Amino acid sequence: MASKKMGWIGLGNMGVPMVKNLLQAGFEVTVFNRTAAKAAPLVEAGVRLAASPAALWEVADTIITMVADDAALQQIHQGKDGLLAGASAGGFGAQGPAGEDGRTVIDMSTVSPGTSRELAAKLAAKGVDYLDAPVAGSVKPAELGQLVIMVGGKKEVYEKAVPIFEKLGKAQFHLGEQGSGNNAKLAINTLLAFHMQGLAESVLFAGEHGIQPEAMLAIIGESALANPITKMKTTNILQANYQPAFALKHLAKDLRLAQGQGLHTPGGEAMHDSFQQALAQGWGDKDISAIFPFLMGEKA
Ligand code: NAP
Repeated sequence: MASKKMGWIGLGNMGVPMVKNLLQAGFEVTVFNRTAAKAAPLVEAGVRLAASPAALWEVADTIITMVADDAALQQIHQGKDGLLAGASAGGFGAQGPAGEDGRTVIDMSTVSPGTSRELAAKLAAKGVDYLDAPVAGSVKPAELGQLVIMVGGKKEVYEKAVPIFEKLGKAQFHLGEQGSGNNAKLAINTLLAFHMQGLAESVLFAGEHGIQPEAMLAIIGESALANPITKMKTTNILQANYQPAFALKHLAKDLRLAQGQGLHTPGGEAMHDSFQQALAQGWGDKDISAIFPFLMGEKA
């Protein structure tokens, strides 16, 4: 990328630590968030705040989005003063030397491949490139710059974005055309649902036979079945602390998107139904590990 001036949209659990890593790496970041107050700590650290998504094009030729879902991504592109409106106006990338690499939107949210392809086509008509680049890894890997990044879009655009990905993650993969990053992300989050639900079911089954969660989780932790996610969520379950690192509503959303892409395997159907039921029963704003109290029959 020719310029270190970047725009960023979305300051949720993931967006904030990712922006901090870009700042640390010397990028000049201007941010927009629907709820402007959430930018306050970053503004204190020297980040500039834009009044709208469109306004980011006046200061940046590369804009990264990290928002909740398809509706949020559509809103920041097609809503009033959205990215598409700003792209029509030209902006920073069209004016200065930074424009030699063109303008690019990189979406790192988890959304449907169809939304990525639709927005990519609309931006292309205005001369803006688009990469879908969703991530595996939660808040801790985001803080540590250890995300795994799955990318769809033109190879040459991907290659120009690699210096950015290297500051946010430990590995990036170019997988093909726009939407292919999203498909890989939906596949890995299906596996995440299996891990979370499997952990919960194992501990619950053991509990029905008098084996305490502490003991069962310790056994799993020492076994070949232990993995970073089971280890990370063991503490949540033991302390009944379900503050979200990754909100259950987002995993429920990802399983819906996976079904939309044709995932109808026996286990996939079961994971979809289980997480939708947990969502319907009010567990959406808790962490994904809240599938455990949901399966225990607790009230949210
Ligand atoms: P989050 O904490 O729920 O934050 C969501 C962000 O989207 C906020 O900035 C929110 O703005 C914005 N937003 C929501 N609806 C909007 C709308 N209609 N218009 C404009 N902005 C809107 O989510 P997160 O955990 O950071 O996750 C972000 C994305 O990464 C999601 O797609 C998620 O599936 C994916 N992801 C998350 C994790 C994780 O562990 N957390 C890991 C991998 C991938 P406000 O501040 O105004 O609400």
